[in-house]
Amino acid sequence: MDLIIYLNGRFVPEKEAVISVFDHGLLYGDGVFEGIRAYHNRVFRLEQHLERLYESAKSIMLEIPLPVEEMQGIVLETLRRNRLRDAYIRLVVTRGRGDLGLDPRKCPAPTVFCITSSIQLYPEELYEKGLEVVTVPTPRNYNEAVNPRIKSLNYLNNILAKIEANLAGTMEAIMLNPQGYVAEATGDNIFMIKSGVLLTPPRYANILDGVTRNTVLELARKRGMEVREELFTRHDLYNAEQVFLTGTAAELIPVIKIDGRIIGSGRPERAFFELLQDFRELTRTEGPVIFPEGKAGETDVQ
Ligand code: PMP
Repeated sequence: MDLIIYLNGRFVPEKEAVISVFDHGLLYGDGVFEGIRAYHNRVFRLEQHLERLYESAKSIMLEIPLPVEEMQGIVLETLRRNRLRDAYIRLVVTRGRGDLGLDPRKCPAPTVFCITSSIQLYPEELYEKGLEVVTVPTPRNYNEAVNPRIKSLNYLNNILAKIEANLAGTMEAIMLNPQGYVAEATGDNIFMIKSGVLLTPPRYANILDGVTRNTVLELARKRGMEVREELFTRHDLYNAEQVFLTGTAAELIPVIKIDGRIIGSGRPERAFFELLQDFRELTRTEGPVIFPEGKAGETDVQ
């Protein structure tokens, strides 16, 4: 079935969802985006994702031509038109069509589109067994250059790290910040557990302020775990009891080997699975409903 895409005020079949080769999102990575999930007929933490989208846009002086309420409606309507109750949603706002120069003032109207589809980042067995990762030479961007808090279309920093991980024979990279502290993975935040305490780098540590990250912090506090947002190094990671990554697409995924060092027992343990279970439970009850009762979509994706 052809997907229905929202593009600049219209819902069109995928084949008609085309943008200009002069779009600065394409020419320069000048734009912002969100990756969002729908679970069980609800859009998980949609409000937080939209807040981050508008904050990213403000930071790069890109005025999104729609109020946030309308954007929320677009996400829900795109899901409805595709009859999706479980989905991965990609919402993108670019600087729009301009000339071949950089100047954003030459781009009169942003391009807005919304794709609803599915995604599977990692095979299911890795959620049981855990991932092997490496730390890579490319540092996460300087906050003063392209701040990692901005979820921009310019992902080359992360892609370079991903290439380094792939060259080392792993699927994912751990990136350090310019000071050498652990920052995040290429598309996920990072957590470790040491002496029962849950640790993750603070927001200023050159990371994206992940929606899943913040959800996990809440869930851990609710469980009564001690939680700390603080800087740590590779040495701390190597000697952690548990390490895991969090992100909208990956959810929570355990890491069992870093740079050849086995983490903890080499297997994900109870504390991890409890948090994963809490997270999955939460996805049943949070966020705006897509199909009001009695009008459920016909197909499920994933
Ligand atoms: N860091 C980076 C660089 C990311 O691209 C993502 C995924 N959007 C994350 C962290 C995780 O953020 P979230 O939980 O909001 O998906």
